[in-house]
Amino acid sequence: MTERMGFFTDTSVCIGCKACEVACKTWNDVPADDLDLLGMSYDNTGSLNANNWRHVAFIEQTVEDNTRWLMSSDVCKHCTEAGCLDVCPTGSLFRTEFDTVVVQADICNGCGYCVPACPFGVIDRREDDGRAWKCTMCYDRIGDGLMPACATACPTESIQYGPLDELRARADERVRELHARGQADARLYGHSPEDGVGGAGAFFLLLDEPEVYGLPSNPVVTTRDLPAMWKRAGLAAVAVAAGVAASFLGRR
Ligand code: SF4
Ligand code: SF4
Repeated sequence: MTERMGFFTDTSVCIGCKACEVACKTWNDVPADDLDLLGMSYDNTGSLNANNWRHVAFIEQTVEDNTRWLMSSDVCKHCTEAGCLDVCPTGSLFRTEFDTVVVQADICNGCGYCVPACPFGVIDRREDDGRAWKCTMCYDRIGDGLMPACATACPTESIQYGPLDELRARADERVRELHARGQADARLYGHSPEDGVGGAGAFFLLLDEPEVYGLPSNPVVTTRDLPAMWKRAGLAAVAVAAGVAASFLGRR
């Protein structure tokens, strides 16, 4: 495996231009959706889904009689412990040499098991072909030493791509800088390997609680309890078999 690569999305410098959404769709040939204003400020994509692999959220807030916009470009978190990958029965979802999580469209059979397994609601099936789609962190580009399309297009470097360890150190420094400037609410999300998904390969600097951005506060990999559940199911099966055998033997 080569060095782990990732995204650091610093929402404090996002200007909501949506160049990331457009670049992602263009490079990855993601179909257009019927876009419409949704009554949520300038958001016209609503959420991540099979046809939106980056989603720029616009949150309007009133703080001390002033209005502010929080803008944030969301994406697949490329989890260290990825529920989507754990449940995929065909091997369509796989972990790359960059420690990212990618779907191979030609192997996906459209079973949809991965959809409820994602604690972030990222991966989604496309209505027309039924297969699952999501961000690949531009696997084809990074294999050629290029940056993902979104990070290349972002004019403010809100989306940063690089070795995950370097990005984590840069993000720590950025939070310290914002705190020193009086932005006490600046915090990192998905940054810690101690969190419920073992740390995200795509993490964020937020200026408010994760829920404000539509992100779960404490995401946990949905397959964490599977080994214990299988063990209990196995023990129960053994107990039932033993009971049946004992009843037959008792009749003789
Ligand atoms: S965010 Fe969801 S789709 Fe992306 S790697 Fe994690 S579990 Fe899979
Ligand atoms: S390209 Fe950069 S600044 Fe523009 S919306 Fe996306 S993250 Fe924000």
